[in-house]
Amino acid sequence: MASLMVRVSHVTKRYSKRFALQDVSFDLDAGEFAYITGVSGAGKSTLLKLLFAMEKPTEGSIHVNRNELTTLRNSDLPEYRQKVGFIFQDFKLLPDLNVRENVSLPLDMKGMSKKEIQRRVEGVLSLVGLAGREKDYPNHLSGGEQQRVAIARAVVGQPSLLLADEPTGNLDSQNARDILALFQEIASMGTTVCLATHDEFLMSEYPARTIELRNGQIESDLVLE
Ligand code: ADP
Repeated sequence: MASLMVRVSHVTKRYSKRFALQDVSFDLDAGEFAYITGVSGAGKSTLLKLLFAMEKPTEGSIHVNRNELTTLRNSDLPEYRQKVGFIFQDFKLLPDLNVRENVSLPLDMKGMSKKEIQRRVEGVLSLVGLAGREKDYPNHLSGGEQQRVAIARAVVGQPSLLLADEPTGNLDSQNARDILALFQEIASMGTTVCLATHDEFLMSEYPARTIELRNGQIESDLVLE
């Protein structure tokens, strides 16, 4: 039986009078790949922010890997976020650092040995198809390559949960497909992947569990058999 990684239970998030999420509940298993979809304003980003503990729910509870996020203190957040990767649509690479330095950043902060860092960085760069590009700077890379670096940086710490907010929004369709295949490969290696997107084409080409939000509520939750 697959083990539970994420449990979102009756979560509501209200910003003043506006409900961004309302009574949202779902579970994700370890190694599961799921789309979070819905039109702009449906609540996708809010859900990812709650899962990354950037915001707290107004009501309800969120468990990730046995952590109950509403009870985490600020001092617990760095340790929690070491187990969770977050990928942005606009990559958010540091322009003054080369590929190796961008990717190794999360490990440098953990105080890991240089040798182990090098081994891990080489491993993830080869996973994302960028072996040999360690010394390049972000502005010498294409959009698709920059997104691969961002993915490498997000998975180098071997997270149990990987969150991505419209990660293919700035990519052409071939690059978007390659990135999707990469996310599915990462999930098959045991990381739970939760990908917010409204790209119908990609979702039909790479079918998977699809949680659709509408006005902050779950409209449908389709699990592939
Ligand atoms: P999506 O990612 O699906 O486009 P969001 O999660 O960004 O949707 O937004 C859901 C709803 O919550 C929208 O109505 C948005 O205006 C509102 N919202 C999101 N963040 C905030 C905020 N910080 N303050 C006030 N309202 C917000």
